[in-house]
Amino acid sequence: MKYGQLHSCKSLYLASPRGFCAGVSRAISTAELALERFGAPIFVRKEIVHNACVVKELSAKGVVFIEELDDIAWAEETQPTVVFSAHGVSPAVFEAAKRANLRVINATCPLVERVHKRAKKCAEDGYNILLIGHKDHDEIQGTLGVIRAFGGKVQVVERIEDLENLELEEPCKWLSQTTLSRADTLKIVRTAAEKFPFLEVNAGLDICYATTNRQAATHELAKTVGKNGVILVIGSKNSSNMLRLVEEARRLGVDAFRLEDADALDAKCMQRLVDTQNIGITSGASVPERLVEEIVHKIVDEFPTTKIQTITTTVENTHFVALPGSLQK
Ligand code: SF4
Repeated sequence: MKYGQLHSCKSLYLASPRGFCAGVSRAISTAELALERFGAPIFVRKEIVHNACVVKELSAKGVVFIEELDDIAWAEETQPTVVFSAHGVSPAVFEAAKRANLRVINATCPLVERVHKRAKKCAEDGYNILLIGHKDHDEIQGTLGVIRAFGGKVQVVERIEDLENLELEEPCKWLSQTTLSRADTLKIVRTAAEKFPFLEVNAGLDICYATTNRQAATHELAKTVGKNGVILVIGSKNSSNMLRLVEEARRLGVDAFRLEDADALDAKCMQRLVDTQNIGITSGASVPERLVEEIVHKIVDEFPTTKIQTITTTVENTHFVALPGSLQK
């Protein structure tokens, strides 16, 4: 017997915008076009975007994911193709690729490149940099590499507590990862500015439009499902922007948990849905819509009287049309 035959009709709310952002779409298209143009295998340094399903599908088409350029195994007489992921790389990685005579295709998101440009300018102008972000994240590793390559001094803070024992020297500017919580980043910046009054204010946050929009949509979704509701956030556990969506829902007191895909919606999760009237679904910026659809089908299959509604906070129209130069020929 279906759960829905035992329980009242459920309301299923879908956040919009959700899923793929312009940078992720561009990075995946770049890897696919590189495969088409140069043939399998092509190498991608790090995950092209942080989603296990995307990585699995590209692997099946002939992409070989590597951690570092040294992992490339290739016959010496030919030139291997390597794609750099959406999260960006440091200048040292470009130099290493040049030394190894690799054909480089750079799929870095233009919004990460914008942060790299700001980082370079700050370093060249002699600023010390307070970099807000997750130390081990690929994007922060790339931005750190840019700052150091241009002679800048940098300190990374992940959480407000990290400011306690921090010493900064004048002049100083702050930069951040693109996929952070807007609310948490602003708190860190305000606290840092109180402790270090010389910290110069930036014109805007480095957090990108897609992260901002998905957080706002999740905020609205959480208000809609209410404290007795449940929000399912679809995404892989190493996706920074997805984890921020879980936090955003919980900030409003809503029970939220992450699902990788429909297989993760097991009997235990389904039981949690039995106990609630309102279910919300959102997904991180690297999640294919197909994964959301499969979860919706599974829920509707279990609760056949479910009513589905989309909660739209913003209509996105950002597209990065231009692919990396080497693929435009
Ligand atoms: S989340 Fe933002 S910075 Fe990251 S790829 Fe998407 S648009 Fe670019």
